[in-house]
Amino acid sequence: MKLVFATGNSGKLREASEILGEGFELVSLSQAGIEEDIPETGSTLRANSIQKALYLYEKLGCDCFADDTGLEVDALGGEPGVYTARYAGDDKDFNRNMDKVLYELQRLESESHMAAEFGVKTKPVSRRARFKSVVTLIINGEIRLFEGTLEGVIAHEKSGNGGFGYDPIFIADEYPGLTLADITEEQKNDISHRGKALRAMAAWLRSQKS
Ligand code: IMP
Repeated sequence: MKLVFATGNSGKLREASEILGEGFELVSLSQAGIEEDIPETGSTLRANSIQKALYLYEKLGCDCFADDTGLEVDALGGEPGVYTARYAGDDKDFNRNMDKVLYELQRLESESHMAAEFGVKTKPVSRRARFKSVVTLIINGEIRLFEGTLEGVIAHEKSGNGGFGYDPIFIADEYPGLTLADITEEQKNDISHRGKALRAMAAWLRSQKS
């Protein structure tokens, strides 16, 4: 089965191919002849994921899927959320995005310490966070959504050389003390938000084949 994946990222394409396994041929955006940026103007991950898949379907008219991922930090009221890629600006700079999350949490923590020094009781600042991925599949003209979540905490500083995006500051519950950039790609794919959503899609597709 041939599926166009709304990504230009070769790492994501490889990850999805490995998860879907034999019987599926994944085609990237450039291989499908889509060179422009796909619009992402929704106010939720679901809306963006659906928007990207529909854009592809309208252009190509074939089976396809898209994903959208966001990082939610509890102490930041769920931010960066839908703005994850552009949290620190439109240039989507990973380092500046991570610096902004670290800075905002440190600011809240210093405010909380200061309040404590003046005898004001405040709740400790929670570093709890999660990645959420929503995958939208359009197959035979019908839409299906698959979701995956990875729970963890935001580290106090960056660590590790692997991964991408916010990996150097995210510590998954499954690997305490290590960021996603410290563990191997295989370990990350096994537990990741996108891995879970893609595996759910793969299981559904296989169930339709049999
Ligand atoms: P996208 O929806 O997959 O393009 O993801 C939006 C943004 O979320 C990316 O630009 C990254 O900054 C971040 N992101 C997505 N997936 C991951 C991940 O697995 N690790 C770290 N950051 C991620």
